[in-house]
Amino acid sequence: MRRKLFTKQATFIILAVILLCAGTIVRFSFLVQKEMKTEIQNSLKDVAHQNRVTVSGEIQDKFNLLLSIADEIHDTQIKETHLMTELQSIVEQYNFKRMGLVDSDGMVHTTDGYEKDLSFREFYQDGMKGLAGITNTLKDSIGNYAESINVFSVPVYDQTNTIIGVLFATYRTAQFENILDVSSFDGDGFTCIVAQNGDLIASSPSAPSSMRGSSNLLSFFANPNDADISCGKTLNEVFASKENGLGSYESDNQTYYYCVVPLDNLRKDRQWYNLTIVPEQVLVDRSYPVMHHVRRMLIIVFTASLSGIAAYMYTYHLQSKELVRLAYKDTLTDGDNYVCFKENVKHHVNFPGFYVALDLSEFKIINATCGVNKGDTVLKMVWEIIVSGLRSGEYAAHIHADRFILLLKGSSQADLETRLDRLVLRLSSISVQLNIPKIFPVMGIYQTSDHNEIEQNYGKAVQAKHTIKATHSRHYAFYDELDMQQLAENKQLEDSFEEALQNGEFKVWYQPKVNPDDGTLLGAEALIRWQLPDGSMLPPYKFIPLFEQNGNIAVLDEYVFRTVCEQQKKWLESGADTYPVSVNISRVSLYFTDLVGKYKRILDSFQLDPKYVQLEITESATVDNTEISSLIEDFHHAGFTMLLDDFGSGYSSLSTLNVMHFDTIKLDKSLIDYIGDTKGEKLLHYITRLAQSLGMSITAEGVETASQVDFLKDLHCSDIQGYFFSKPLPLSDYEAFAIEHTKQP
Ligand code: C2E
Ligand code: MG
Ligand code: MG
Repeated sequence: MRRKLFTKQATFIILAVILLCAGTIVRFSFLVQKEMKTEIQNSLKDVAHQNRVTVSGEIQDKFNLLLSIADEIHDTQIKETHLMTELQSIVEQYNFKRMGLVDSDGMVHTTDGYEKDLSFREFYQDGMKGLAGITNTLKDSIGNYAESINVFSVPVYDQTNTIIGVLFATYRTAQFENILDVSSFDGDGFTCIVAQNGDLIASSPSAPSSMRGSSNLLSFFANPNDADISCGKTLNEVFASKENGLGSYESDNQTYYYCVVPLDNLRKDRQWYNLTIVPEQVLVDRSYPVMHHVRRMLIIVFTASLSGIAAYMYTYHLQSKELVRLAYKDTLTDGDNYVCFKENVKHHVNFPGFYVALDLSEFKIINATCGVNKGDTVLKMVWEIIVSGLRSGEYAAHIHADRFILLLKGSSQADLETRLDRLVLRLSSISVQLNIPKIFPVMGIYQTSDHNEIEQNYGKAVQAKHTIKATHSRHYAFYDELDMQQLAENKQLEDSFEEALQNGEFKVWYQPKVNPDDGTLLGAEALIRWQLPDGSMLPPYKFIPLFEQNGNIAVLDEYVFRTVCEQQKKWLESGADTYPVSVNISRVSLYFTDLVGKYKRILDSFQLDPKYVQLEITESATVDNTEISSLIEDFHHAGFTMLLDDFGSGYSSLSTLNVMHFDTIKLDKSLIDYIGDTKGEKLLHYITRLAQSLGMSITAEGVETASQVDFLKDLHCSDIQGYFFSKPLPLSDYEAFAIEHTKQP
C-alpha cells in the first residue's frame, strides 16, 4: 500500500515537472514571439522611415534642381536650341532619361530631340496651372514606350510672372526601385512606393512578383487570390488619413507585417506612401535560434530536475523503509512490535482467534538478580519460542518489558490449551538453560472473531491474566471465566463510594511493625478496609483497583491520611505511647496536583509533627513517572518520611534506590519468600547491604515464619511487618497490641 502511494506520488511529481517544463516552453515561446514581433515592428518602422528619408530626399533634390533651372529660363530663350543642349548636360549629370520644355501650346521640346504635342499630359495641364509635382508611374509616351517613368515638372514663368511653359524631367522608375532595393531584414523584406489611390509607383525587386505585377495595390489587396481583402480596406483607410500605419495581412499562406509612412512628394492631393513589408517567416527565423537555445536549456533543466527528483525519491524511499522498520520493529527482539501487530491483524486477519496476553511473573527478579543483560536474553529467548510456535497467518509482538501479545488461530479451547501447555513448558525451560530463578509464564486469553478493536481485545486478555497473576497456581485463564456477576458487583461498589465514605464504612486498620530483636512495637501501617452495610469486610484488592480506575482513590487516600492524623493527635493528647504510622498513597493519587501541599495542610490542621505520619509509595509508581523524584523531594521538604513500598515485587530495578531518595525500603513478601533458597538469600543480602549503604532503613513485609525473622535479624532489618507478629488489626485491637508490645523503659 505504501509502495503504491509512493509510486503515485512519484508519477504525480514527474507529471508535474513535465507539465511545468511544457508550460514554460509554451509560455516562453509566446513571450519570445511577442517580443520578436514588437522588435520586427520597430525595425519595420525604422526601415520605413529610412526609406522615406531617402525617397523624399531624392524627390526633393530633383524638384529643387528643376526649380532652379526654371528660374533661369526666360521667354526669349524658350525656343532656343542651346537650352536643350544645357538641359542635356543636366540629364547626363543627374541621370534623367530626358528633360524638356512644353510651351504654352502644349508642344514639347526634349533634350533627345523630340517635338510632340503633350498637351494631353496631366503634368503639363497642372504645370500650366502653376502646380509642380511628380507623376505616378507612366508608360513613356515618347520614344521607348515600354519603359516606366515618373515625370518631375515645374511651371516656367516670364518676367511678368506669366506661365510660359512647363519644365520637366523624365525619371526612370527603375531608379526608385534601385533606391528601394536596400537590404532590409537581410533581403527578406521589401518596400513599395504607393500613391494614395493605390497606384504602385515602384517596388523593390525583392517584392513578390504578384505584387510587382499589380499596377494598383488596393486592387491587389482587393483580390482574395493575392491577399486578404481586409488589408486592402485598412490600407485604404491609412492612405486616406495620411498618417503612419502598422498592420499585417495574409498572402500566399504567409503572414506579412507592413508599415506605411507618407512621403514628401510635394502634392498633398496625390500623396505618396512608402510601404515596407516583412514576411512573418523572418520572425520565425529570427526567433528560431533563441527558441532552440531555450528548448535546449529547458531540456537540460528538465533532465536535471528529473534526476534530482529521482535521487530525492530514492533517498526518500530508503528513509521511509528505515522509518517503517523503526516504526514496526521491536528494538529488543528485532521482531514485530505492537504497532506492527495491530496493522497486520487489521489488514490480514478475518478468522476467529485467541488473543493471548503473556508475561512472566517475577521477571523483574531476574533483572534485579541476574542483571538487565540476562533479562534481555530471557526476553529474546521468549520471543524466539513464541515465534517458532506460530502457525501461518498467526501474529505476535513484544509490547514492552516482559509483556507479549499473540493472536492464535482456532476455535477450540482444548486445542489451544494443548498449544499453550507446550508453550509454558518451553518457556519454563529457559530458567534451566540459563541457570536463573524460575520463570512463571502467565497468560490471559480472549477469544473473538471481531478484530476491529484490538486494544480492547488485548485489554480483555490482560484482565483475564490479572485474575491469576498473583496466585501462581495457573499459567493461563480465559476471559470467559471472568465472573460477570463480579463485574456487576464492582459496578455496584464504584457507585456506592460517596455514600460509603459519608457513612464511615471505610475503616482504617493497623498492622504493627516490630523490632526483630525483641518484638517490641516500632510503628504500624494503616490499611484500609471496607465494612459493607451487611457487616462483611472487603479487603483492599477488591475495591482499590476500581477506585484507581475512576480516580476516587485520591479521595480515599486522603481520607485514610486524615483519619490517621486525627488518631495520632488523639493518642498524643491522651498521653498514650504514640508510634509512627505509615499511610499508602496510590500511584494514581500521585498524579493529582498540589498533593504535597494538600497533605501538609491536613497535617498542619492537626498541628501534628510529620514524624508521626509516614508515606508509602509503591515501587510500581516509580516506573515511567519522571516527576516522582521531585515529588519525593517536595514531601521531604514538608518533613515527611518516605517509604518505598513493595520493593522487589517486580517493577523497578535496583537503580531506583540510587535515583529516588527514600528513607526506608519495604521488602516485598515475594522477596521474603526467597528466604530458605540460597540464591534468594544472597539477593536479600545484596539488596539490604546496598540500601543500608545508601542510608536507608529496611522494613521486611509479609514475614510469616520464625526462620524468616531470624534471617532478617541477621540482615539488620530495622523492623518487621507480617503475620508472624500480627495481622492488620482494627483500632481497638491495635491499641491493645501496642500496650502489650511497648518496650518497657
Ligand atoms: P501494602 O501496602 O503492601 O500492604 C501490605 C499488605 O500485605 C497488606 O494487605 C497486609 O495485610 C499484607 N501482609 C502483611 N503481612 C503479611 C503476611 O505476613 N502475609 C501475607 N500473606 N500478607 C501480609 P492488605 O491490607 O490486603 O493491603 C493490600 C494492599 O492494598 C496494600 O499493600 C496496599 O497496596 C493497598 N492498600 C491498603 N490500604 C490502602 C490505602 O489506604 N490506600 C492505598 N492507596 N492503598 C492501600
Ligand atoms: Mg503499604
Ligand atoms: Mg507492601
